[in-house]
Amino acid sequence: MTGTWTTWAADQPSLGRSTLGMLESIVGPLTPAAAAAIETARLQPSALPESARTRLVAALGGDSVLVDDRSRAEHSGGQAYADIVRRRHGDASAAPDAILLPADAADVARALEICSEESVAVVPWGGGTSVVGGLDSVRGQCVAVAALDLRKLDQLVEVDAQSRIATFQPGIRTPDAEAALAAHGLTLGHVPQSYERASIGGYVVTRSAGQASSGYGRIDDLVVGLRLATPMGELVLPALPGSAAGPDLRRLVLGSEGTLGVVTEVTLRVRPQPVERHYEGWMLPSWEQGVQTLRTLAQRRDHPDITRLSDQVETQISLSLGGSGGVTKRLLSAYLRRRHVADGCLVIVGFEGDADDVRHRRRITKRVLRDAGGVSLGTRAGRAWEHGRFSGPRMRDSMLDAGVLAETLETANTWTGLSATYDAVRSALESSLGRAVVGCHVSHLYETGASLYFTVLAAADPGREIEQWAAAKRAANDAIVRTGATITHHHAVGTAHRDHLAAEIGDVGVAALKAVKARLDPAGILNPGKLIPTG
Ligand SMILES: Cc1cc2nc3c(=O)[nH]c(=O)nc-3n(C[C@H](O)[C@H](O)[C@H](O)COP(=O)(O)OP(=O)(O)OC[C@H]3O[C@@H](n4cnc5c(N)ncnc54)[C@H](O)[C@@H]3O)c2cc1C
Repeated sequence: MTGTWTTWAADQPSLGRSTLGMLESIVGPLTPAAAAAIETARLQPSALPESARTRLVAALGGDSVLVDDRSRAEHSGGQAYADIVRRRHGDASAAPDAILLPADAADVARALEICSEESVAVVPWGGGTSVVGGLDSVRGQCVAVAALDLRKLDQLVEVDAQSRIATFQPGIRTPDAEAALAAHGLTLGHVPQSYERASIGGYVVTRSAGQASSGYGRIDDLVVGLRLATPMGELVLPALPGSAAGPDLRRLVLGSEGTLGVVTEVTLRVRPQPVERHYEGWMLPSWEQGVQTLRTLAQRRDHPDITRLSDQVETQISLSLGGSGGVTKRLLSAYLRRRHVADGCLVIVGFEGDADDVRHRRRITKRVLRDAGGVSLGTRAGRAWEHGRFSGPRMRDSMLDAGVLAETLETANTWTGLSATYDAVRSALESSLGRAVVGCHVSHLYETGASLYFTVLAAADPGREIEQWAAAKRAANDAIVRTGATITHHHAVGTAHRDHLAAEIGDVGVAALKAVKARLDPAGILNPGKLIPTG
């Protein structure tokens, strides 16, 4: 079970000597750091009151109320760099006092009722992949905190193929949801990089965006109905194609991050499985040219489903890690030099649909890319991206073993504001971290703007890793707010962005959230300290 303690996946690739050498030449000397085993985790005794435990066991069953150290340690935080570093140091002080494993929506309602009466904070737990502190065991005003792990609510409930909608329990993982839909010839098309582990309920309450969001839409666009268990009762919002019945309360639940209730069922739009999937690579002469070209594509109706533009730094890393699809680096460099795009930016475009639709959109996209001075790298580069698209997180533990600080952050702005945000965030991260690799890509396109996703590598400061990253992240957050971008495009708010939320939604927005929370969760048990600014 060490996998759930520190690692993302069991099959961690090791970093080659040349990759490490290249990294050290940029970020400076690295100090390798070993990870502690879960058996050595340090944590406080459980503070769950006996009365609460007795009532929860009577309601859910003895096997569904866990207070052993190992289960608690396994729930000590999500997947942010700080969470992982803490666990690598054997520090499980972020562990909850208990883990509750409800079997259905009625169990969830009973657990919320008991926890409200016993003053036990509840942290809903989906796939455990939050990177913004959404799973931190914060007690708030309560006497103890429990993780409400939804792993047993893992079924496809119903498919209405005629209306192209499907209803899921919240704890189902995406590969299982896709396998169940495939039996009906359908797909969700929601593929975030955390696809292997994240849950459908988690996607909904964090407003997640998958890699093909330009085609299938982000999760916000897919939710048509849901059920939310709250301490004051159940909110049921039926699956309707469109409605003018007052404000859309689905939108209140989307992004609520477990602070207003627990999603116990969700109905999503689904599509027929695509007949064709086609991914290809291009090289554009510069980042600026790339951004303009993506805008042209995004503002057409017949754009690709996946469009990803890497800046020069990320392009060089992708190409050295094999992103050109097996063509040797030397051959590729010569090819790109001859075509005057040696210092260019990699673009991946992907199309999913029926043959005619894919052919039509490819033709249009090709024309736009060629007109912008783009050079085709063909389907090999597209296949290399597809093959490696989940490999980033798999490498993170190897990076941390080698002494590398590795973290990502994201934002979005209008096309007009995008460059200013890009420059400001890059420079904030570089000033804070000193010698660092700061790469970026644009991967979620809208008619009005796009997201920016930064990957940061630096030499970790042994013993000070968390403070080192916290300072860099603070500088980046400030740069994001200063340039009018969103504090988060898809990772959500959690604790990491909570103090910057007011800058985006204003005092009135914060007051509205507080008022709804006070009404639905009067005892303040639901995910204290997340999303809603305190004070
Ligand atoms: C390697 C990696 C790659 C990632 N890539 C992407 C990406 O491409 N796109 C993207 O959008 N995000 C990405 N993320 C972030 C993360 O995967 C998403 O935020 C995801 O939606 C979280 O789902 P989860 O099931 O793991 O939720 P959790 O992490 O378990 O929970 C997230 C938050 O939601 C609450 N919650 C969970 N389930 C429920 C429920 N049923 N009812 C009420 N509250 C609930 C939790 O309390 C918590 O606050 C990535 C994360 C990692 C570690």
